[in-house]
Amino acid sequence: MLKIENLNVKYGAIHALKGISLSVDEGAVVTLIGANGAGKSTTLKAISGLMQPSEGSIEYQGNNIAGIPAQEIVRRGISQVPEGRRVFANLTVAENLDLGAYLEKDKAVIKDNFVKVFNKFPRLEERKNQLAGTLSGGEQQMLAMGRALMSRPKLLLLDEPSMGLAPILVQEIFDIIKEINEAGTTILLVEQNAHMALSVAQKAYVIETGKIVLQGTASELRESEEVKKAYLGG
Ligand code: ATP
Repeated sequence: MLKIENLNVKYGAIHALKGISLSVDEGAVVTLIGANGAGKSTTLKAISGLMQPSEGSIEYQGNNIAGIPAQEIVRRGISQVPEGRRVFANLTVAENLDLGAYLEKDKAVIKDNFVKVFNKFPRLEERKNQLAGTLSGGEQQMLAMGRALMSRPKLLLLDEPSMGLAPILVQEIFDIIKEINEAGTTILLVEQNAHMALSVAQKAYVIETGKIVLQGTASELRESEEVKKAYLGG
């Protein structure tokens, strides 16, 4: 479904991605793990059209989408849940969700999407008139995921969904990630929490300073001494 080859991204003089190649099969959960500053978010931003690659290709459903505008990428079925949630604090839960469906004109489809999102996240339904800025961290993560699902993506890009959450909530969020995938959405998951990421993914890549240094099935990487030492706490 997604095939990235030799992706290079620069922020001025900073060469953040130095020839990343990775692929995501339709229906899979693939994870990209790495430490702070390794280039995980930059990879997602290049896929979702928020950053222009300086070199390389991003093939999605057979077409090169590298460098095309973000809105067009959403239209083609890719939706990103940004790091740190980025919900609109002064809008209600329902208003935030509505914004996730901004490309959809059919009111019946939007209504149906609301029903689906509220089924998945009953807590958002209970709080639909609450201002997003007053939600807990876990609820904001749910809202950010719900907002991304409002466009019915085929490919969901998740940027560190576990960040800043208590372990019990991390487990809840990962259970939901699994459910979203089982309902048919392909997922590319960026995480520092290698333990959780490898528990949900089938395939994994390790990124260090802008390069893929290891790749394999999730179980291969769980057994890798390098991964154990650097990412799984020995
Ligand atoms: P984190 O987990 O801390 O978010 P990350 O793996 O997602 O890390 P990126 O945010 O992709 O890392 O950053 C990769 C590199 O690009 C880092 O060296 C970072 O400092 C640099 N970088 C990211 N955004 C910018 C920017 N807007 N301007 C300049 N450099 C940037």
